[in-house]
Amino acid sequence: MRHRRQARILAGGLAIAVALWLSAGCGGGGAPERRFLLVGIDAADWSIIDPLLAEGKLPNLAALMEAGVSCDLRSLEPKEKSPVIWTTIATGKLPDKHGIGGYLDPTTKHIMTSNVRTARTVWDILGESGRTVTVIGWLVSWPAEQVNGSMVTDYFRFAPREDRPLPEKVTYPPELLDEVSPLRVVAADLEDEELARFMSLDGALTREEAQRLPREELFVEMRGIQSADMQVNQLRDFVAGDRSFLGVAKYLMRERPTDAFFVYLRGVDSTCHKFWRAGHADDYDRPVSHTEERVFGGTIERYYEFADEMLGELIEEFGEGATVIVCSDHGFTGPPLKGDSGGIRDHGPVGVLVMVGPGVKERARIPEQNVRDITPTILSLHGLPVGEDMDGAVIEEALTPEFLRRYPVRTVPTHEPSG
Ligand SMILES: [Zn+2]
Repeated sequence: MRHRRQARILAGGLAIAVALWLSAGCGGGGAPERRFLLVGIDAADWSIIDPLLAEGKLPNLAALMEAGVSCDLRSLEPKEKSPVIWTTIATGKLPDKHGIGGYLDPTTKHIMTSNVRTARTVWDILGESGRTVTVIGWLVSWPAEQVNGSMVTDYFRFAPREDRPLPEKVTYPPELLDEVSPLRVVAADLEDEELARFMSLDGALTREEAQRLPREELFVEMRGIQSADMQVNQLRDFVAGDRSFLGVAKYLMRERPTDAFFVYLRGVDSTCHKFWRAGHADDYDRPVSHTEERVFGGTIERYYEFADEMLGELIEEFGEGATVIVCSDHGFTGPPLKGDSGGIRDHGPVGVLVMVGPGVKERARIPEQNVRDITPTILSLHGLPVGEDMDGAVIEEALTPEFLRRYPVRTVPTHEPSG
């Protein structure tokens, strides 16, 4: 009995000594214990978030902002496609170094694949340091690479068909695919009630009502009514994609937990492209039908609320005390001038960053940062050195002076394999 108490006192004394040593900033300071979750929300933009926050409609994001730091996140300039930017986010490097130039490989014209990437990812570096990692849905992650944990690539969301079976290496390890496949949500799985929240179906004009419109509006209106079904089906697909990766993430957090999770959600971007016109008819040259405006005018905002719920579910499943980063690759502004729109023309130059966790400042709005700073910052949060060949830097404004004293920013020439 006495021995045990002595041992406990000794252990306690040792812990205090270690804490003192660490707080004095001696040596490398070891590595902080950390459970880390990054949720990437493609195209998230403050101009849509801020009014929703003010209405109390994004409670999970609001709680993160309240507990941590938030800021504008400058995207790549000139504008790049999302796979390029998400690869910069995951490597801390600009496209000339990471080698991912778009959706298609410019030489082969085939879909861009992860093995074209010429820079190591933050999950590679974390994995090598002994942390276990999970990567879900990340753009250009197929074919799945070996990681110190699990990977479910962006290809997972496509349901295999007889004429289009899934390719190899949709997951790592490969046998994970059978385990998570039942969690794939396809458009046909979604009940109409699940979709009803995203639109106001009773806003659609009937054909009889349309017939009473002035002639110049009638044609636009009839087309609006006809295309509403197609728009609902597209929305169905966006929700199914995000629900698939959400389900897989929550499942893996329970069944194959790892120190770090990276989850990518695409639906906000898809929804913005498809439904921006409905909420911003005045910005377009061509007239928008009453039906489109009334039915889908609030779809983007409703989708943001859905994204906030997914964020809440991920944080809850991952557990308290985790470090969380929410970021987007670019913002969304709609067409720059009346007329042409679509594709990256609609993307805005500034996305969002929210960060919370041990060592991160609380309730702080900090100056604009850059997408290339995310990887260096994640490394620093884990007490790991930043590659001097990275194009970004640690977002020191986000970190507390105590943390930076205890874990000063360190560098190594490179994290790339030599030779
Ligand atoms: Zn987009």
